[in-house]
Amino acid sequence: MAAIDFKTLSDEDVKEFLNSFDTVLTDCDGVLWMNMNPLPNAAKVIDTFNCLGKRVFYVTNNSTKTREEFVMKCQVLNFKATKENILCTANLAACYLQDLAIAKELQEVGISHIGVGPDAIKKNVPYNKFDKDPDVGAVIVGFDEHFSYPKMVKAASYLNDSNVHFIATNTDERFPVDNNVVIPTGTGSLVRCIESCAERKAVVMGKPERYIADVLMKRFQVNPERTLMIGDRHNTDILLGTRCGFKTLLVLTGITTLEDVNRWKQSGSAQEKEYIPNYYIESLGDLLSYLEK
Ligand code: PLP
Ligand code: CA
Repeated sequence: MAAIDFKTLSDEDVKEFLNSFDTVLTDCDGVLWMNMNPLPNAAKVIDTFNCLGKRVFYVTNNSTKTREEFVMKCQVLNFKATKENILCTANLAACYLQDLAIAKELQEVGISHIGVGPDAIKKNVPYNKFDKDPDVGAVIVGFDEHFSYPKMVKAASYLNDSNVHFIATNTDERFPVDNNVVIPTGTGSLVRCIESCAERKAVVMGKPERYIADVLMKRFQVNPERTLMIGDRHNTDILLGTRCGFKTLLVLTGITTLEDVNRWKQSGSAQEKEYIPNYYIESLGDLLSYLEK
């Protein structure tokens, strides 16, 4: 692992870099946009990748939107996208269930779900008196602003049956800290909470788990050796890339800082070494001048 500053590459190195991949996996929040604000020149870089004949996939751990909703967001922010090149954790969780025998049984009637929104155990009914729905075959933890103690009771009670599948969309801890306020992206903390009371570990859909890469390889025959993963977070984006044998490019517009990378370079920890990207650049937009050469 090297963590090469993109600025130090010669024209020849840049050419070699660009020829070394034909698939680009890009994280979304922190690389392309911050919430609803596109990052400067990021859309132009994606357009240029497309012009150069690279296949671009948007790979996000955000579980709050469907693929269609991400396509709409991309359109609003000027990123070219179709449903096929979006990989989001809500879709992955559905695919995962579809692959399981239990879901195949249910396929004819569709996979129904309960518990989304400000759900609670009925008012005035003690927590230990809720009736389990015998049709529940899986508990999926995604981002949930309505996470509550009653939901913990329900989730852990269903999960007490070892035949009930336990799935987490992603485990991101937080958004970049702004104004000293920590905003949990939620799912990581919620997953740990349910894992703790259910006394079981969830199967995680999103980055850095390999499931997302398996889906890409199965759906699109992506070749890991010719794939570039771009991300702003070490323990999801970069770790996925390291684990799957992708080339990795860290942008410094999100979570992980150059100080973090320099610390891991000095560290003896094998885990921390996996967080070190092949390359880093200040922002995705800064890549534009190299692509236009
Ligand atoms: N989870 C939630 C709920 C989010 O809102 C976000 C970012 O907006 C994420 C996860 C991380 O998304 P990404 O993988 O695109 O950085
Ligand atoms: Ca991100």
